[in-house]
Amino acid sequence: KAKEDGRNLVQFFAADMQKLALRRMHIEEDLRHALESDPNQLELHYQPQVNHNGEIFGAEALIRWNHPTNGRISPEEFIPVAEVTGLIHPLGKWVLSHGLQQLSVWQSKGLNTQLAINISPNQFLQEGFLETVTEAVKTCGVNAERFELEITESVIMRDIDEVVELMKELKTLGIKFSIDDFGTGYSSLQYLTKLPISKLKIDKSFINDLFTDPNDAAIVNTIIAMTKHLGVAVIAEGVETLEEANFLFENGCDAFQGYYYDRPMPATDMEGRLLQQKAGFTAIEADTGEAA
Ligand code: C2E
Ligand code: MG
Ligand code: MG
Ligand code: MG
Repeated sequence: KAKEDGRNLVQFFAADMQKLALRRMHIEEDLRHALESDPNQLELHYQPQVNHNGEIFGAEALIRWNHPTNGRISPEEFIPVAEVTGLIHPLGKWVLSHGLQQLSVWQSKGLNTQLAINISPNQFLQEGFLETVTEAVKTCGVNAERFELEITESVIMRDIDEVVELMKELKTLGIKFSIDDFGTGYSSLQYLTKLPISKLKIDKSFINDLFTDPNDAAIVNTIIAMTKHLGVAVIAEGVETLEEANFLFENGCDAFQGYYYDRPMPATDMEGRLLQQKAGFTAIEADTGEAA
């Protein structure tokens, strides 16, 4: 009986793996097609990032793929495929140029937001990445000071000297760096002190379990304390409730991102949020102006 179960299990896994392999193959094929012939399937959404006053100061660009027959496919699924097949390079370029174009539109409308873009390890370490970014910044005529690249700890671990060199060169353009999903990798404090980063993003898995796993509350507080020592900013991602926001706020977190504030949204909606906020500020300024 046990043997039979075992055999069934093996068969089950084999069938499962085959399905998975097939799905990956289709994703590769269809993504390549989208990038080459139908980029309208791709779209960037933007998720607001707010400061301790609840004001939006930035947005993270998150790619969306609307597959013509399968509907929306998650980046959690297709980004890893893009990474191993090399499609991350055209995809990364698409994200950079579209994100920067959007930032330039917002800047020209006087909407003063930062923009953060996710950069995959293979994209970051690809020859010519510096030139690609420089070119995109120039073409779009954006103020690069308002532009941030999110990289992960795994990049740093690959070749620290090369990475530091590259980061320094990008930094001369005014570009900032944040470490995404922080706490899930293995970067030591020593690594971190070497890097010209301006922000750590606490991974959302720690925020999720803030009140159920006491370890996670301790980790979050340790990360926040670390950022104070490093002299960098800290943002929590995946903030879903008021309780989480309060905990983070009380423990010294500078900035917040998550469903509690806003979900990722199309560019037009993000623009609406920025306009609304700007109008609010203008009204406040006008008020104080009259009172004075
Ligand atoms: P990430 O960069 O860590 O992005 C945060 C993810 O958390 C996003 O998922 C976002 O929609 C989601 N999120 C935001 N707030 C909450 C919340 O309160 N609760 C929960 N449960 N989730 C929240 P998304 O958009 O599915 O992206 C997943 C990952 O795919 C990203 O993780 C990033 O690693 C990658 N990705 C997305 N867009 C791009 C891109 O343009 N380029 C590259 N290279 N990777 C990307
Ligand atoms: Mg990110
Ligand atoms: Mg993250
Ligand atoms: Mg991630």
